[in-house]
Amino acid sequence: MPRWILHVDMDAFYASVEELDRPELRGKPVIVAGPEPRGVVATASYAARKFGIRSGMPTAQAKRLCPQGIFLPPRFDRYEEVAQRIRAILGEYSPIVEPISLDEAFVDLTGTELLHGPPEKVAEEVHLRIPKEVGLSCSVGLGPNKLVAKLASDAAKPGGLKVVRPEEVQSFLDPLPVEDLWGVGPKTAARLREKGIRTVRDLREVPLGLLRSWFGPKGGEALWQLARGIDDSPVTPVREAKSLSHEVTYPEDLFDQKQIVSELRRLSFLVVDRLHEEHVLAQTVQIKVRFSDFTTYTRQTKLPEPTDHPLLVAAEAVGLFSRVEIPPGQGVRLLGVGVADLVPAEFRPLPLFVDPNITDAFHEVRRKFGPEALSLGQAGLE
Ligand SMILES: [Mg+2]
Repeated sequence: MPRWILHVDMDAFYASVEELDRPELRGKPVIVAGPEPRGVVATASYAARKFGIRSGMPTAQAKRLCPQGIFLPPRFDRYEEVAQRIRAILGEYSPIVEPISLDEAFVDLTGTELLHGPPEKVAEEVHLRIPKEVGLSCSVGLGPNKLVAKLASDAAKPGGLKVVRPEEVQSFLDPLPVEDLWGVGPKTAARLREKGIRTVRDLREVPLGLLRSWFGPKGGEALWQLARGIDDSPVTPVREAKSLSHEVTYPEDLFDQKQIVSELRRLSFLVVDRLHEEHVLAQTVQIKVRFSDFTTYTRQTKLPEPTDHPLLVAAEAVGLFSRVEIPPGQGVRLLGVGVADLVPAEFRPLPLFVDPNITDAFHEVRRKFGPEALSLGQAGLE
C-alpha cells in the first residue's frame, strides 16, 4: 500500500496566536522573544521578517533592526491550548499524529481512505478547517513520506497546500538546494558545496560508491537515499509531556552519601536525555526522596532560566537533596528526579557560562554508547 504522510506547519505560530488574541496587532511587526540581554527571538510575524528578523536571533539585535517592533514575552499555556485544538482536528483523520513541536505535526494517512476519502481531499480539508476553526493560517504538505511531506509544506509557505505524488517526487526535489534535505546539516552541505554539489539533482548524479568514500558507508547511503526522496521513517505518535521524571525504588536502602549523589546524577542525566528527545528545556527541577520508614519528601526549585544542561540539572537535584534532613538511622528507599515548566528548545537563552556545543557533544556520546558511558566527574557538580 502506498504511504501518505501529511505535514502541517502553522505559519509564524506564536506571533499569529498573539495577533489572534489581540486583533489590533494584526499586520504589525509582532515578535515573540525572550527578555534581553540573553533572550532570543522565537517567532517573528511576516511583517517583522521584512525587517530581517529571524528565529534564534538575539532579542537585542532584533530591537536594533526593528525598534518599532512589538516585542512580546511567550505565553506557552496559551500556545499549548491552541496546539491541542489543532492536534484534535488532525486526530480526526488518523490515530497516528506525531507533533514535532507546538506548531508542527506529521499525520500518517496511509490506509485511512475508506474512512476519510482520498488523502488529497483530507489535505484540502485540513488546510481549510484549521484557519476556519482555529483562526490561524497553516501550510500543508502531502507526500509519500515524512521527508517529502515536510519539504512540500515548506514549499507551500505561507498559507499554501502542496501535494507531491510519488511520481512527482524526483522532479519536486531536484531543483532544491541540498541543505533543504532533512539530515543534511550545514557541515555536510558545506562539504558538498566544495565539491560543486548544490542541488538535489547534483547530489543524485554522484555514484553511491563515491558518496560512501566521502561520507562513510552510512552517511553515503543516507545521502543517496535522501537525493531520491527515499525515507522509511515512521510517523511516531508521542504523548505530550508536561513534566518528565525518572524514579527508582532500590532493592536495598541506600545509606552511602556518595552512592546517593551518584544516583541523583544518573537520574538527572536520564531526565535530560528525555528533554533532548522532546526538544524542550526545563525551568523547574524536582526531587523525590523516600526513606526506609516510607516518609516521603519532595523538593523543587525554579531556575533563573530554562535549561537542558545535564550538569546544571544534576547540580540542582543534588542541591535539593542536601536540603532534605535525613531522619536518624534511615536509608533511602526511593529516589526520583523530575523537571517541569517545560518550554520549547527554541527558547534556549544565549550561552552565558556554558558552551552549548558541550551539551550537544555530551548527548551525542550518550546516544551512541548509552547513558552509563559518560560519567562526569564529581568535580563537574561543584
Ligand atoms: Mg511553523
